[in-house]
Amino acid sequence: MGLDAKTLKHRLTHDTQKEFGGTLGAVCIPIFLPLTVLFLISLSRSPDASVLQWPPSLPSYNQLLDPLAPVLLLGWIALHVLLYHLPCGKVSEGLVLRDGTRLKYPINGFHGLCVSAALLILLVCLGAPLGYVFELLLPLAASAIAVSFLLSIYLYVRSFWAPSHALALGGNTGNPLYDFFIGRELNPRIGSFDLKYFCELRPGLIGWVVINFGMLMKEVELRGSPSLAMMLVNSFQLLYVADALWNEEAVLTTMDIVHDGFGFMLVFGDLAWVPFTYGLQAAFLVVHPQTLSWLKAMFILSLNGIGYYIFRKSNSQKNQFRRDPTHPTVTGLETIATATGKRLLVSGWWGFVRHPNYLGDLLMALAWSLPCGFSHILPYFYVIYFTVLLVHREARDERQCKAKYGLAWDTYCHRVPYRIFPYIY
Ligand code: NDP
Repeated sequence: MGLDAKTLKHRLTHDTQKEFGGTLGAVCIPIFLPLTVLFLISLSRSPDASVLQWPPSLPSYNQLLDPLAPVLLLGWIALHVLLYHLPCGKVSEGLVLRDGTRLKYPINGFHGLCVSAALLILLVCLGAPLGYVFELLLPLAASAIAVSFLLSIYLYVRSFWAPSHALALGGNTGNPLYDFFIGRELNPRIGSFDLKYFCELRPGLIGWVVINFGMLMKEVELRGSPSLAMMLVNSFQLLYVADALWNEEAVLTTMDIVHDGFGFMLVFGDLAWVPFTYGLQAAFLVVHPQTLSWLKAMFILSLNGIGYYIFRKSNSQKNQFRRDPTHPTVTGLETIATATGKRLLVSGWWGFVRHPNYLGDLLMALAWSLPCGFSHILPYFYVIYFTVLLVHREARDERQCKAKYGLAWDTYCHRVPYRIFPYIY
């Protein structure tokens, strides 16, 4: 829907409620989170892996420098830029933008994952020392952090040449620190190459499972074969990444693509935070081997299976309903009308809790940590952080839905009182 220039200017500069702690958050997060990444990695490889030691140990400057790391990282990103342009897979259109147009996106991320897997297998066959990724982890993370800052500066500067309809409603407060952090431009592109869409699911997400595989190979180097715990962590996380890329089209309707500008928050999240903190369990297992009985492994496997089932079914149900509400798989579901013309599901998965997809995601997150045993809290970092992230994200989404659907949203909340965990939250 188009907005007149005056209304748009007003909404861009006044209607935006600052998120993530406003200016203070925008100053602290870009300092604190990169340090957290480096801290967690160095902790995961220390013998005591004690999160509570004070002062927290950070890696020395020398531990962060290895000329191979930036070369590998930039080579990796370049490879995925190339794969992005491969003429395979379909081309999909995003949602309608404020100027009435729709952008086109190549849906070939899964092809990117397959090519990456083929290249890794080739490297293993050629005897490449993939376990060396373990030694390179800190320099790689430092390079990814540096790239995140450089890319965010580029994005911030170029946004001043973008037309006003291309700016994100939340990222143009006029406060440079906050706008740099949240992101001013909604869909920055170089020609047809969409920077945000590219970063969302490709170099970082695929990089995460490649790093995991490097940890597995390091275990093989050290102990002759991969442990059951390492294999579970690797396969669970590979399933998650493969699923995201298989369903890549669904990212086009997410908050990140539709609502958020592309600034430091997303750039750093995509390129540094996800690949270097989501797989901490694998890095931890290299130095802290765990024996896992088959019974425990079966329990963990079932937990991951149940989580995946809830996550996939609920996401697919909503995506199907939003894409085609007359589709036979969703026609039997009860819905309520809203003033926008869109309807809300009140039965099926979305009648169980208001965010069943988050529930499934959290069960999986727990299953990824359990193979690491209970001796340390560090491998549980992801599930703890992710609970905080999803509770915060749920609150953001509720606010936006309340603004969009008003009374109809209140009715939905009344009908489906629990947000994520039935009878708990
Ligand atoms: P969701 O898929 O949860 O989408 C929320 C939107 O769904 C709402 O804004 C609303 O949009 C629509 N909606 C809400 N309730 C209903 C209803 N009852 N009926 C129909 N539509 C409804 O958004 P996210 O992007 O947060 O999550 C997508 C997936 O990504 C989740 O599985 C999540 O767990 C995962 N995720 C993973 C992260 C990670 O780091 N691993 C980070 C963030 C998310 P509208 O009405 O406009 O369609």
